[in-house]
Amino acid sequence: MADASKALFEQAKALIPGGVNSPVRAGKSVGVDPPFIERAEGCFLWDADGRRYIDYVGSWGPMILGHGHPAVREALEVQLPKGTSYGAPTALEIELARAIVDRVPSMEMVRMVNSGTEAAMSAVRLARGVTGRDRIIKFEGCYHGHADSLLVSAGSGVATLAIPGSPGVPAGIAEQTIALPLNDLEVVAATFKAYPGEIAAVIVEPIPANAGVIPQGKAFLEGLRTLTRENGALLIFDEVISGFRVAPGGAQELYGVLPDLTCLGKIIGGGLPVGAFGGAREHMTRLAPEGEVYQAGTLSGNPLAMAAGLATLKVLGESGVYDFLEEKGRKLLEGLRDAAKTAGFRVVLNRVGSMGSLFFTDRPVTDFASAAASDAHFFRRYFRRMLDQGIYLAPSPFEATFVSLAHTDEELETTLECAARAFEGLSKD
Ligand SMILES: *Cc1c(COP(=O)(O)O)cnc(C)c1O
Repeated sequence: MADASKALFEQAKALIPGGVNSPVRAGKSVGVDPPFIERAEGCFLWDADGRRYIDYVGSWGPMILGHGHPAVREALEVQLPKGTSYGAPTALEIELARAIVDRVPSMEMVRMVNSGTEAAMSAVRLARGVTGRDRIIKFEGCYHGHADSLLVSAGSGVATLAIPGSPGVPAGIAEQTIALPLNDLEVVAATFKAYPGEIAAVIVEPIPANAGVIPQGKAFLEGLRTLTRENGALLIFDEVISGFRVAPGGAQELYGVLPDLTCLGKIIGGGLPVGAFGGAREHMTRLAPEGEVYQAGTLSGNPLAMAAGLATLKVLGESGVYDFLEEKGRKLLEGLRDAAKTAGFRVVLNRVGSMGSLFFTDRPVTDFASAAASDAHFFRRYFRRMLDQGIYLAPSPFEATFVSLAHTDEELETTLECAARAFEGLSKD
């Protein structure tokens, strides 16, 4: 890290815990202090020292069009002079709701919130309200934001920093959350048997992407669908990452398995703070003011965020976009895997379209335990060699690599050349 970022990090640490407003940004697990970012455009970031990076974090998922896409900028410029928040309903909210409901197969109604955390927290509350039950099942390594009941065996920063739970989450609340291994329907069935009539919902990332990308496939999701239905529980798909990333209708469209409730975030805000949750009319009308399950937000449905999200979804609605993303994702991620193999390293690539993870291991990665068994020390060294060459990857083996529409073949090839040099260097260490 060069001088300007270093100085900023020192100042930040005095004022903001760890110098960051979200733990994964600090780069603690890779032993690198974070570059402070000054601006972004297309697939590039520039830091406070004027260094340019090719960005594969994409603000942790939202920037699927790349930074500063003209359509998003224009939408924001149109809205800005009209005001930034009214705390009153707007036509923009209807437009974004319609764009979501039209594409996500299981959603008939949607409620906007301000983050993925809020979306998952609210979906769980609604499921508890609808079923009159308290317990929920989640899966180890899945991350659903940082609400109390979901911060049990979580992925993302919790996995990166090896935090099992979190102080501050009351035992009585953590107790209501049953964390199970991914990819094991028998243990889910046994859990339903052990707690008859007590489980309100099963919440899952249909394509887990917070312990690295760990696709579960159709059979697991279908099994969850059957088990929840048989046991009177709701199935919640947390598509905060997979929504609009892997297909227009998210993982539920890709696999043809429909949940009762869906959580969205990231992409639907086009880089502004947004989340949403929705599902069948029957469940969504249980929310206040129509129903009795309370949920609210001063800035929910914020007009700038709606405008940016709507512009993003419009671009994603153009024909051929997902084929294009698949092609770019394949080129980059298979290229990285091949570069590692050429240098003699054993790696496993998990990829769905434009997101994926390279695990430094020789065994298939199908759940959190197999992801955690990959070589974190090797990842650290790989990460640093890439960063030194201007390639900005997520600073953790437990995160996804995201490709955007703004990455051209030129940048992908540059990245693969950097990777080849990084792996060659590592083979000589
Ligand atoms: C990022 C993420 C969240 C949390 O969203 P925030 O906007 O960070 O609160 C929830 N679920 C999943 C699957 C995520 O990837």
